[in-house]
Amino acid sequence: MLTRHAPAAVDLHAHTRASDGGDTPDELVEAAATAGLEVLAVTDHDTVEGVAAALEAGARLGVEVLPGCEVTADVDGRVVHLLAYGDGLLAPGALRRVTDVRRGRAERNHAIGHKLEALTGVGHRHAAALAGGAALSRAHFARALVQRGVAATVAEAFDRYLSNGRPAYVPAPSLPAEQVVALVRGLGGVVVLAHPGRLAAAERERVVAHAIAAGVDGLEVWHCQHDQQAQRHWLATARRHGLLATGGSDYHGAHKPGVRLGSGAGGNVRVPLQVVAELKARLAARVCS
Ligand code: AMP
Ligand code: MN
Ligand code: MN
Ligand code: MN
Repeated sequence: MLTRHAPAAVDLHAHTRASDGGDTPDELVEAAATAGLEVLAVTDHDTVEGVAAALEAGARLGVEVLPGCEVTADVDGRVVHLLAYGDGLLAPGALRRVTDVRRGRAERNHAIGHKLEALTGVGHRHAAALAGGAALSRAHFARALVQRGVAATVAEAFDRYLSNGRPAYVPAPSLPAEQVVALVRGLGGVVVLAHPGRLAAAERERVVAHAIAAGVDGLEVWHCQHDQQAQRHWLATARRHGLLATGGSDYHGAHKPGVRLGSGAGGNVRVPLQVVAELKARLAARVCS
């Protein structure tokens, strides 16, 4: 029997091995129960494959699991991540357009692998071995470069090879944000711009304005990479535009050490329980309209 001493807690942004997280869906929900979470959204990149197992585990462990997906999208020529929430995401074939783009990402990973192998001897196979069958991302290439001694840290691997403008960078195929918004709304879901604070500072406000114009329902205010000042800023921006304010840790298990489920980096993520009620109200309004 699980006893909880912590106050009600919410995490609306977490990954499993269905994308680039370190935990299976079962392990993720077990970690949520241990952390005392009441509500957990499972938001893998461009897939809902981990959600069904997480829902089962949630029913077993007393954690309310919300279906979600972190969709890779394009706004004004920039890549943004859009968090989609709603039961409609689970309808068979609902995310086919997203899945097709994901297939394009597999081709992109081979292109990165070719470039990187020529530059460093570390290629697709090394990153794939690290990913262990999960969706490959540049994070795996970065870890492979560290593992094989080419770079000292993941940050250095990005700075030298993998970031936009560096020699092994290949743009990822993605969907225009307007199309993601239309798709998710059509499924009765809502769309939230993930971690706006992670956008490049010089273009952040412009990209966020475009995302709002594209029709997102909300902004992710609480996130492991948003400090207090950023949280205040994005909360004020969300309020000014009448948008939902949501939040989550962006937990990736062992693949992002230092980011804890429910609490982010050093406790910087504390999502008010009220957020869940507001999210559910938006979902209910959408399904009925
Ligand atoms: P991809 O979707 O293949 O472009 O890779 C995105 C992954 O790389 C995500 O897990 C990001 O958190 C990670 N990533 C992107 N840029 C950096 C960076 N500069 N340092 C560390 N990780 C990064
Ligand atoms: Mn990720
Ligand atoms: Mn993201
Ligand atoms: Mn994420």
